[in-house]
Amino acid sequence: MFGTYKPLWGKKPRFKSSYDAVIIGGGLHGLATAYFLARDFGMTDVAVIEKRFIGFGGAGRNTAIVRANQRTQENVPFYRKALDLWPVLTRELDFNLMFYNCGNLNLVHSEAAINAARMNIATAQFCGVESHLIDARQCKEMMPALNISEDITYPIFGAMYHPPGGIVRHDAVVWALAKGAAARGVHIHQQTAATGIGVENGKIISVDTEHGKINTPRVLLSAGGYTAALAYRLLRIQLPISVLTIQAMVTQPLKPLLNHVISSGAYHVYANQTLKGEIATGAHMDPWPNYTTQTTAHYIKHQAEALAELLPCLRGVKFMRHWAGLADMTPDMAPIMDGNDHVDGFYLDCGWGYFGFKSCTAVGKYMARFMASEKCPPILKPFNLRRFEQHRLMGETAAVVNYSANN
Ligand SMILES: Cc1cc2nc3c(=O)[nH]c(=O)nc-3n(C[C@H](O)[C@H](O)[C@H](O)COP(=O)(O)OP(=O)(O)OC[C@H]3O[C@@H](n4cnc5c(N)ncnc54)[C@H](O)[C@@H]3O)c2cc1C
Repeated sequence: MFGTYKPLWGKKPRFKSSYDAVIIGGGLHGLATAYFLARDFGMTDVAVIEKRFIGFGGAGRNTAIVRANQRTQENVPFYRKALDLWPVLTRELDFNLMFYNCGNLNLVHSEAAINAARMNIATAQFCGVESHLIDARQCKEMMPALNISEDITYPIFGAMYHPPGGIVRHDAVVWALAKGAAARGVHIHQQTAATGIGVENGKIISVDTEHGKINTPRVLLSAGGYTAALAYRLLRIQLPISVLTIQAMVTQPLKPLLNHVISSGAYHVYANQTLKGEIATGAHMDPWPNYTTQTTAHYIKHQAEALAELLPCLRGVKFMRHWAGLADMTPDMAPIMDGNDHVDGFYLDCGWGYFGFKSCTAVGKYMARFMASEKCPPILKPFNLRRFEQHRLMGETAAVVNYSANN
């Protein structure tokens, strides 16, 4: 009655024994890189191999927040490129990604945090990214539901307001990229885990999978929270990455009340209202490294308490669903994008923590350029792996600790 099931990204491709490039991980970054390899460089003999189904990892679990007001001069321009690409991709992929640039309010709760926000804002403005400091009264004008009383645990001193940020529908991004890549000839193999990587004379020669060996001269490892374990298991490369669980939840749908994304580092909470009306909210990471995707009553209670203080009108509202995913975090909270360092033809994209959704468009564009040209694009150079052994860590950690909870 329903005909043959055919996914949006075409019928199941033939599993070939060789490809020009293999991408391990059918998440946002793997699919985006495959799409740009095909779009910008005509490299279509590419396989994306995914151990479960596309979007299984953080791609389908994130809270959909996008913005470009990171902290350092290396990071801000990269995230700016990523933000600029949403309307472009919406058009060219012919898919409604539901980009809603409602702006982000990163609440600050102390004089020290205001000073730190000033530095952030100066860097953003220097890099051409719109960001302003506003006081508590202005926050209230912009978001009447916000509680700016001094009689709460962490009174609001003001906010870093970033108008161009907002939300994008995360699973639409997965489907659209998969559809766009497949339409250009990329093969997406689901239920196909990478189990080994073949190296000969310091060069990549193959990838082993559950369904057989693939000969290839290029591999991109972009397996989200699983990358560090895979890099070690498959190539004995040790990455400075901790894997932590992030939990998130949504309430029942409500009439529009949150017209901006808000986040608060002091409360460890961030929230936005989806176009369906649910309040999507995420918490701080679980404080211990682990690979579970379990949720805990502790965080549900924490979110409820934090939201009830910041947005008292939400008291009594019900959480409908909760879930968790993995975040791969580096010591400086900036990602690793590297290639041809340890092994020729081996490219690495990981360490995105809770920033991997907002960055995925630019990752795809520039990692594709790196893989196709074998030259690291200047914008990616600061993100190399060697910075950790050379003690040249980036200052992104402060961006998170001071004001922005997670997102
Ligand atoms: C609750 C939560 C909220 C978040 N909120 C935000 C947010 O609002 N904004 C933001 O920017 N970021 C957010 N993030 C982070 C973001 O989701 C991730 O950084 C992003 O998904 C990373 O993309 P990726 O493509 O690198 O990895 P993933 O999307 O995790 O994809 C990796 C894929 O690799 C596959 N894989 C693993 N092992 C193998 C193997 N051996 N062989 C083949 N495939 C394999 C996995 O199955 C998975 O599908 C959030 C994350 C979580 C968990």
